[in-house]
Amino acid sequence: MKVDYIIVGLGLAGLAFCEELIAANKSFVVFEDDSQTSSLVAGGVYNPVILKRFTPVWNAKSQLEIALPFYKRLEEKLNIKVDEKFITKKVFKSIEDQNNWFEALDKPKLVNYLDKSLDTSKYKGVLADFNFGNVKGTGRIDTLKLVSSYRKFLKKEQRIKFEKFQYKKLEILKNMLLYQNIESTKIVFAEGFGIKQNPFFNYLPLNEAKGELITIYAPDLTIDFLLKSTLFVLPLGNHHYKIGATFNWKDKTSLPSEEGKEELITKLKKVINVPYKIINQTAGIRPTVKDRRPLVGVHQKYKKLCVLNGLGTRGVMIAPSVAKKLFHHLEYNVPLDKEININRFL
Ligand SMILES: Cc1cc2nc3c(=O)[nH]c(=O)nc-3n(C[C@H](O)[C@H](O)[C@H](O)COP(=O)(O)OP(=O)(O)OC[C@H]3O[C@@H](n4cnc5c(N)ncnc54)[C@H](O)[C@@H]3O)c2cc1C
Repeated sequence: MKVDYIIVGLGLAGLAFCEELIAANKSFVVFEDDSQTSSLVAGGVYNPVILKRFTPVWNAKSQLEIALPFYKRLEEKLNIKVDEKFITKKVFKSIEDQNNWFEALDKPKLVNYLDKSLDTSKYKGVLADFNFGNVKGTGRIDTLKLVSSYRKFLKKEQRIKFEKFQYKKLEILKNMLLYQNIESTKIVFAEGFGIKQNPFFNYLPLNEAKGELITIYAPDLTIDFLLKSTLFVLPLGNHHYKIGATFNWKDKTSLPSEEGKEELITKLKKVINVPYKIINQTAGIRPTVKDRRPLVGVHQKYKKLCVLNGLGTRGVMIAPSVAKKLFHHLEYNVPLDKEININRFL
């Protein structure tokens, strides 16, 4: 079998790169071994504002300009609904917090996203000593539905192998790559935290940031916006809500833990005061980088080996634009932005 590309990993990064290949009529085969869960468990929220500091997310506007039409096209292609748009309501912790919001209103990059007037309403079951601030242009991609549907689509097209990619078996020849019976021009590694097993790219400074979420059923809670407090309460419909997420910098497993659950329950007590039942708990490792920028580029020595990783806490917004940048770099020699190029770690 001869292909233009081998792709290792079908999370948000691998998926976005496949879409570039399909659009350009390139042939490819994907390897996926279900070793990482980040794209399957993610809250999937996109929000152009960092609400802790009231600062804009890096390249938020340009990322959303690419990401939102990207997910819309996928909805049409796969015949699924994955993009749920809603308002995010920030729960103010103090008067000072509220004042910081008003200061942030003057920042040109935030003007389209932050509502000028505060929301003084009371919402049944929601604990809030102060008002709420509305953030516009936010929403959620159901990444589990998207990635699962996309894998099915690739399976039907016979373009995905559900098996572990074994790095040792990759032969790097002068004019091509050889893996088992597959000849390929290039390979793109998009393994998320799985990059730690990759002998070609495991030198990159990717840190584990394990995150856990619970799904609750709260019959007395009726909110249709994302509530952002010390954690987020994300409406799923029918009084079901996703609650998250924790950050754990030590645990390298994708397994849900008692510790994670306890942390979420303790924090949730300060956010809602209605009864609820825990329906589900999930965990995954966010592929984060010390400078909080993606890892994109080509191996210093083996030019046929490429990487697309480091999406951190914002894979939904970042994946489509960095996949495009990598593709344009590989196919049309468009230079990569310095801040995302893995060369910065040489
Ligand atoms: C709890 C939690 C909440 C989150 N919430 C949000 C959110 O609200 N919004 C947001 O934008 N982002 C969120 N994220 C972050 C988001 O999930 C990531 O940025 C994104 O999913 C990373 O995608 P990826 O494709 O790079 O990695 P992954 O999703 O980890 O995908 C890599 C894939 O490669 C496969 N793989 C690895 N090694 C091999 C191998 N050797 N052979 C074959 N296959 C292999 C893995 O099985 C996996 O499927 C959250 C993450 C977590 C954990």
